[in-house]
Amino acid sequence: MKLLEFEAKHILETADIPVPASTLLTPRANSNTLDVPVVIKSQVPVGGRGKAGGVRVVDNKEQLESIVSKIFSLPIQGYIPHVLLAEEKIEIKQEHYLSLLIDRDTECIRLLVHKEGGINIENHAKSEFLSLPVSKKTITEDAIRVATYLGYPIGLVSSLLYKLFDVFIESDAVLLEINPLIYTASNTFVCGDCKMELDDAAAFRHPEWHFTDSIKDANFVTLDDRGNIGTIANGAGLAMATVDAVAAHKMTPANFLDIGGGANAEAILRAFQRMNTYINLKAIVINIFAGITRCDEVARAIIAAKEQIASLPPLYIRLAGTNFEEAVMLLSEANITTLSSLEECLVAAERHL
Ligand code: GDP
Ligand code: MN
Repeated sequence: MKLLEFEAKHILETADIPVPASTLLTPRANSNTLDVPVVIKSQVPVGGRGKAGGVRVVDNKEQLESIVSKIFSLPIQGYIPHVLLAEEKIEIKQEHYLSLLIDRDTECIRLLVHKEGGINIENHAKSEFLSLPVSKKTITEDAIRVATYLGYPIGLVSSLLYKLFDVFIESDAVLLEINPLIYTASNTFVCGDCKMELDDAAAFRHPEWHFTDSIKDANFVTLDDRGNIGTIANGAGLAMATVDAVAAHKMTPANFLDIGGGANAEAILRAFQRMNTYINLKAIVINIFAGITRCDEVARAIIAAKEQIASLPPLYIRLAGTNFEEAVMLLSEANITTLSSLEECLVAAERHL
């Protein structure tokens, strides 16, 4: 499970690890009460927000409201934020990269550090990082190596590293990434950004886990954000076959989506929202072969989602299987027609190109 930044930072804060002071903004919150300078950050479960315009330092109070509303409606890799994080602006002396992760190849917890952190971290080759297996036994020496590498006092680095390591273990994390780890103008460390991924299999140990779980639609994969056809299917096999069929018709599938067994309205709504960010989208093809999935549930979810999104391209829907008749009835009451085969859907979609 991937956490949103504010959720991950809350865990850090609870463990006495320094993070910037912050408030959460909902779409209806009044941003005018914020003091400037402030950093406004989109809370979406993907990285690269800075480059996409989802992280903005606001120095001028007059600009605050318009920047907040812009970021609320800015999709990042298909995700629209439900909340924004408004943080105190930190005076940055240095930006570093530091992460802990489960390294399955070498069966250890691995620590990765780079002197130059920040938004261009992917420009550095893997070999450029200080890379150490860490454990409770070696953490003291590991901290010394990191301090030497970064050029800071050992005490400063070790107190941070001990805490991060403990949080990693206690949270059953598989990834804890701090980028940037900010060395501030007052010579302290602050975690400027935090990506955290928890082990779903450990959920039974954590009754305190109540996260947004914003990446539930992990079966949604963007294939080509300039593609012209959105796809929804159930089951990975049928979803792949649907994507292939779109391509065989010389159209470009924009995404792959397997809605799995339970088609909930929230997941379909989010899928439509993400597809709506593809600038060349001409039609959405929905291909359901219902076994455990029930066609009427899918139909209800489609109707609900369609009501909430005004500007959807045409939907071409093929349903078969459990509760098919009821689904067709519900859809026709909502003036949505169904077709009897995937082939018919594709031929219909082609007419919009
Ligand atoms: P990401 O692009 O999704 O990784 O978002 P980050 O939270 O890492 O922010 C991107 C960049 O914004 C950082 O590397 C900083 O350069 C800048 N930034 C974020 N917070 C602050 C801040 O408090 N002060 C300053 N000066 N820059 C910030
Ligand atoms: Mn970052």
